Amino acid sequence: MKICFATNNPKKIEEVKAALGDQFEILSLKSIGCEEELPETGETLDHNAFQKARYVKEHYGVDCFADDTGLEVIALGGAPGVYSGRYAGEPRSDERNMAKLLSNLQGSPDREARFRTVIALILGEREYSFEGIAPGRILEAKQGEGGFGYDPIFQPDGFDCSFAEMSMTEKNAISHRGRAVKQLANFLKSI
Ligand code: IMP
Repeated sequence: MKICFATNNPKKIEEVKAALGDQFEILSLKSIGCEEELPETGETLDHNAFQKARYVKEHYGVDCFADDTGLEVIALGGAPGVYSGRYAGEPRSDERNMAKLLSNLQGSPDREARFRTVIALILGEREYSFEGIAPGRILEAKQGEGGFGYDPIFQPDGFDCSFAEMSMTEKNAISHRGRAVKQLANFLKSI
């Protein structure tokens, strides 16, 4: 079965291929001829994930899935959420995003947060969605060099290190995206 993963991030494609195994051929956007940026203008993760997947289905006629992720901080009413990538404005910068988040949480004892990933899947006429959540807390300062995004300031529940201090395999096993991908993989293998 051939299915397109509507992302330009090669690391995400690698992760999904590992979870899905040989049964599925994962097509990149480039390989289906999609070079343009996908629309992503919604105010929720669901909206954006479906917007990207529907765009690919409508314009390129292939079955596909797309993901969207946000970091939701409870004391900030769920921010930065769907705006996580551009929290500190354009051009996008992980460093400035983390600095803004730490500053907005300065002095706050409530550090509870979670990463949430939504995957929207379109198979023929049918649409499905999958969600993965990684609960945790925002650290007082950056820890670790690995990962990307907010990894150095996010400590997942049950661990005393940040995502940036974990190996990719360790992180994928408990991460929001890893969990959402697992659900997608279980579903695709069951049909
Ligand atoms: P995307 O929807 O996967 O592109 O994620 C949007 C933004 O959320 C990224 O630009 C990062 O700032 C943040 N983000 C997503 N996944 C992770 C993660 O696993 N660790 C840290 N930050 C992440």
